[in-house]
Amino acid sequence: MIRATKPEMHVKPIDGELLRFHVRSRTRKDIWHLVDVMENACSCEQYAFRVGPQLSRGQSCARCWHLTQARECLLDYLLKHIQVEIDKTQAVELLRYECNH
Ligand SMILES: [Zn+2]
Repeated sequence: MIRATKPEMHVKPIDGELLRFHVRSRTRKDIWHLVDVMENACSCEQYAFRVGPQLSRGQSCARCWHLTQARECLLDYLLKHIQVEIDKTQAVELLRYECNH
């Protein structure tokens, strides 16, 4: 399960979903927006009025702050797991080397 790593949690993973998050509003702390990283979509006003139209015009890098935060959380999680896999591979290679010398 993905867990938010920042001291003041503003990205909450949704149980059973890897690519959707709730992200807290920066200005209204009681509001959480639904972000879908795969669909590059967010339920906030900024997305509805600025980002969405930019995406429709082909600006594929357009994102609101919530999308950026969710993507960063997901990337941190993936990088951590990739590192674990790299460490496992290196450990096996090291063990193989140690057993043959
Ligand atoms: Zn948003």
